[in-house]
Amino acid sequence: MFYLQKTRKFFEANWLLRRCAATWKSLPDKASFANILRMDDKTLTKLTFPLQDLEKYYVSNVNTENFRIFNPSLDYIQWAELLFKPSKDHEIDYFSSAIRMDHAPLLSQPEVCFIGRSNVGKSCLLKALFSLAPEVEVRVSKTPGHTKKLNFFKVGKRFTMVDMPGYGYRAPQDFSEMVEAYLQERKNLKRTFLLVDGVTGIQEVDNTAVEMLEEFGIPYVLVLTKIDRAPKGLLLKNVLAIQDFVEKQTQGCFPQLFPVSSVEFSGIYLLRCFIAHVTGNLSITES
Ligand code: GDP
Repeated sequence: MFYLQKTRKFFEANWLLRRCAATWKSLPDKASFANILRMDDKTLTKLTFPLQDLEKYYVSNVNTENFRIFNPSLDYIQWAELLFKPSKDHEIDYFSSAIRMDHAPLLSQPEVCFIGRSNVGKSCLLKALFSLAPEVEVRVSKTPGHTKKLNFFKVGKRFTMVDMPGYGYRAPQDFSEMVEAYLQERKNLKRTFLLVDGVTGIQEVDNTAVEMLEEFGIPYVLVLTKIDRAPKGLLLKNVLAIQDFVEKQTQGCFPQLFPVSSVEFSGIYLLRCFIAHVTGNLSITES
């Protein structure tokens, strides 16, 4: 009986998997950078370099140097996008899931992972990054208490993207053990992307994740999600506060923030390019 109940729960958890609200039946117009390049300069900057786009609102003594550390040309961004386009020789798809570290697939290609509290916009971000490969299903169990997994997505033979379970205040012990084990043991992990809500800024629960990443001494990047939802003044304030926090209180965090909106697609192209870069698929030379 107990076995049956457990089996039913397991299947429910899987069937209750829901796709991101932003599920696209066909390619959204903004999925491809080629369409953005046709837009006027103002829109192009806003969608491609959302952090730099904020510069004009700050008073002159605000330090915006860190806004351009990773500042690829439009050509590089366009080139990097090719990695996110599937083809016969370059399949992009969900690969497998793991509930324990010893279930994780043995993959030697470079890997990046995405971590953040539940509801931060992680599924939508992955969906936006994979929007040129709409057959990729970013699936997550939203039901509290249900099995949380690491989901692996192979981007051809170039790299793997790993969707980590969303954390919350009541993360069960086995969940934190799985995440911690992955972060500490995964040899091919090149970068961890820690998602922070653009409206709320860094919250207590995010601080715990930062402390964990700092303790493990692994390189990570902060991605600011849902920026379309944050009123401009609040976004400006959050960006500076987070930048200050990164500068003063972190060692392993990349000093440049990556603001994104999975609805408007701002920041998605730059993030794709950064992923290509950190996985060793794009070496950027200064022009
Ligand atoms: P997850 O739990 O981290 O995977 O979060 P989801 O990706 O499922 O997003 C949680 C909620 O935020 C959903 O209602 C999404 O529609 C919404 N959301 C996610 N990303 C964005 C965004 O960039 N802009 C806006 N306005 N809403 C977003």
